[in-house]
Amino acid sequence: MADFHDPLPPLREVIREYDLRAKKSFGQNFLLDLNLTRKIARIPGDISDSVVYEVGPGPGGLTRGLLAEGAKRVVAVEMDPRCLDALGDISEAYDGRLTVHQGDALEMDERALLAATDGEKMRIASNLPYNVGTLLLIKWLTLEEWQPWFSSLTLMFQREVAERIVAKPRTKAYGRLSVLAQWRGKVRIALNVPAAAFTPPPKVASAVIHFEPTAPLNPDVKLRDLELVVEKAFGQRRKMLRASLKGLPVDALELLAMADIEETKRAEDVSVEQFVELARCFGELKQKG
Ligand code: SAM
Repeated sequence: MADFHDPLPPLREVIREYDLRAKKSFGQNFLLDLNLTRKIARIPGDISDSVVYEVGPGPGGLTRGLLAEGAKRVVAVEMDPRCLDALGDISEAYDGRLTVHQGDALEMDERALLAATDGEKMRIASNLPYNVGTLLLIKWLTLEEWQPWFSSLTLMFQREVAERIVAKPRTKAYGRLSVLAQWRGKVRIALNVPAAAFTPPPKVASAVIHFEPTAPLNPDVKLRDLELVVEKAFGQRRKMLRASLKGLPVDALELLAMADIEETKRAEDVSVEQFVELARCFGELKQKG
C-alpha cells in the first residue's frame, strides 16, 4: 500500500467551504472517506504508469484517492461548475497531475482529452452518476475499435446494475448488459459499497465493477448484429427463441438451426458464446439475402 499523504483538508470541510451541497439533478452522492476511495483506486492494480479518466469527480474524493495511490495523471470531466474551484485546489496540491474539463461526459471524446503518450496506459475509474452510468458503460463497450483505447474500467453502479453486468445465464439478472460486457471482456464485482458510505446516502446499495477488455471471441462478428440479436431475444425474454427472434429480417428457425441452438430455448438459457455464434450466423444469412 502506498504511503498516504493527502495534503488537503477533509472532504466535509471542502464541501462546507465551497458550499457543495449534493444536487439530485446531477446524480450527486459523494464519497467522503478517503480510505474507501483509496481502496477503489487500488482495484486496477498499479496505476503509476496510467492516465486515469474520471467522470464526475464532484468534490474530489475518488480523485484524491487515485492521485494518492500514484496515478501518473488524472483527467476528469465534471458537469457541475460549482465543483471546479475545489478541484483546482486538488490540482495544485498534486503538482498539476489533475486536469479538469467542465461538460457532459456523454459528449466527450475521452481519448483526445487524455492525450496519453507512448508507454502510458489509459484507464477509466469513476463513481458514476446513477442517471447516466449505464449509458456511459454502453458508450465504452460499443466502441467500433476493439481492443479499445482503455486497459480497464473501474466503475461504481447501483448494486442491481452491477449484478446485471456480471450475471450468468439462467439467472434473472442475465440480459443485454451481461452479454455485451462479457462479450467484450472479463468483468467482476470488486467491491460492495453500502448506501451509508455516501453523503447523502442513496436509497440502494452500490458496487464497484472491474472490467478488462479481451480480444473478440470471434473477430468476424459485427457489433450491430450481436446487439440486434440480443435485443430481440431479451425483448421478449419469456418467449422461446423461435418466437422472440421472429422480428429479425431472416428466418428465425433457419438461424437457430445454423447456430445449433434449440428453438425452444429462451434468451436467458443462451450463453455469451452462443449469442456470438447466433450473431455470426445472422450476419451470414443476411448477406445471402
Ligand atoms: N466522484 C465523486 C465522489 O465519488 O464523491 C462524485 C460522484 S457523484 C455519484 C457523480 C458526479 O458526476 C457528480 O459530481 C455530478 O455532478 C457528476 N455528473 C453528473 N452527470 C454528469 C455528466 N453527464 N457528465 C459529467 N459529470 C456528471
